[in-house]
Amino acid sequence: MAGEKSCVTLLSGGMDSATLLALATHSFNKVFALTLIYAQRHDREVESAKRVAEFYGVPHKIMDISNINALLQGSALTSSEIDVPKGHYAEENMKLTVVPARNTILLSLAAGFAISLGYTHVSFGAHAGDHAIYPDCRPEFVDAMQNVFCKFHFWPIGIWAPFLDYTKGGIINAGKPLNVPYELTWTCYDPQPNGLACGKCGSCTERIEAFYENRLIDPVQYVGGWDVALKNALEVLEKGPSR
Ligand SMILES: [Zn+2]
Repeated sequence: MAGEKSCVTLLSGGMDSATLLALATHSFNKVFALTLIYAQRHDREVESAKRVAEFYGVPHKIMDISNINALLQGSALTSSEIDVPKGHYAEENMKLTVVPARNTILLSLAAGFAISLGYTHVSFGAHAGDHAIYPDCRPEFVDAMQNVFCKFHFWPIGIWAPFLDYTKGGIINAGKPLNVPYELTWTCYDPQPNGLACGKCGSCTERIEAFYENRLIDPVQYVGGWDVALKNALEVLEKGPSR
């Protein structure tokens, strides 16, 4: 239909992409959620992605591309030999969670899928808090990819990245009026055997801070409970990055 806007939304199962999906359902005529499995440690997150897509009643494709991990070594998220770092999310050692060319690969696959569907856009949940560690979450990266997607494909694809200037707390603030089901989401890079979030990895720390900023209790279950997780996160944040 002329003027119809449609979007393939990268849905990881984390709180950013869940909020993104919620916003997308308000901003586009059609939304298709796409979960690309590439990190070895994220089974729990994929389950969350399924539940979030079901919650919004959008079609959802889950594609396991983890066999590309053999090409993408050097990251704690794709290499079983590298432990996920603990501590402040802006710390130097968090660079161990950088997956080589991650968003170039994920956005390109999403764009190919969008072209196949005849959709107009792809979206992903990059935000300002990621700029320091992940170059492929920065506005300049999105501009450059947008240039490629618009000028060098027969079917131009727009990139919708509404959180580029948002902090993680800002994303939750945007999600609040939309009643995003954060209890279904998963953020922890180091899930514990009992199904709880560790409360100590950089990803947990950042998430806990975001809920705290909004004066909210995170509905996800942490080892030792919310009070323990919050106390630990505030201590880590107080210390700041040890660079
Ligand atoms: Zn964690």
